[in-house]
Amino acid sequence: MLMTFNPDADVSDNNVQRRGRGGRTAAIAGGGVVGLGAVVVMLISAFTGVDLTGFLGGGTDPGSQSQPQSTGSGEGTVQNCNTGTDANNSVDCRVAATSLVLNKYWTAHVKGYVKPEQVSVDVATSTPCGTASNDVGPFYCPSDQTVYIDPTFFALLHQQFGAEAGDLAQVYVVAHEYGHHIQNLIGTMAKYPNNGTGPTSNGVRTEVQADCYAGAFIADMATQKDKNGNAYMTKPTEAQIKDALDAAAAVGDDHIQQASGGYTNPESWTHGSSAQRQAWFASGYKNGLGQCDTFSVATP
Ligand SMILES: [Zn+2]
Repeated sequence: MLMTFNPDADVSDNNVQRRGRGGRTAAIAGGGVVGLGAVVVMLISAFTGVDLTGFLGGGTDPGSQSQPQSTGSGEGTVQNCNTGTDANNSVDCRVAATSLVLNKYWTAHVKGYVKPEQVSVDVATSTPCGTASNDVGPFYCPSDQTVYIDPTFFALLHQQFGAEAGDLAQVYVVAHEYGHHIQNLIGTMAKYPNNGTGPTSNGVRTEVQADCYAGAFIADMATQKDKNGNAYMTKPTEAQIKDALDAAAAVGDDHIQQASGGYTNPESWTHGSSAQRQAWFASGYKNGLGQCDTFSVATP
């Protein structure tokens, strides 16, 4: 069992919607998305040869699959998610509870903070940024200020990093997407719009800053408390931090390119190299939010 959460913590006031349609493979999302994850799917495929069609939502015969019971209208909330024990036991609840703690953290650090919407994707759902599914992985859509995550995505991370290793990597992924929400809220995205790809592009700077924000949150996550004064989360161990860093490295563009094509072309980077992502995560983790200015340095 994963132990990221204090078993006694009250996480009942999480507010994540369950939305989706189930049963068919989604199209790749269009532009404007700031995501993390399709790369992981590619990576795992490249390294292990695992058939991911199940994770990708297709099944053996998409046309014959019935709608999951939970969808119907496609609306609902994450069920049975009241305590830290629930969060430790269920990935759906863990994602929702992580978001609850992230909102507390950012409320304390950003004046006038407004929570993003968050959708727990059930296989696939349409968004203003294109279809959300494990084909594209978790992402934040700026235009509707919503984080989209299918919790089954983390099974892919577990396969990559090991069953015990995955818990903090999950927190890292959710925190990275919240980092994009912050960038949207405080005007970073507007100030540094997409200007193409490459290692010094605004895109890479935006991505590694979200990694830095995730590191800062993880360093502080054990200090956030519920209404009874119980800490929501436990302090990460060195081993967990290493795992989160491994996750950051594995989703670096150079790593993906080598895994998928055997070459490295920095000009096409949009997320940053493995070393960049690890370094900025570590900067936030060690030094806090004040050391996350990825835009003023010559090379992030
Ligand atoms: Zn991102």
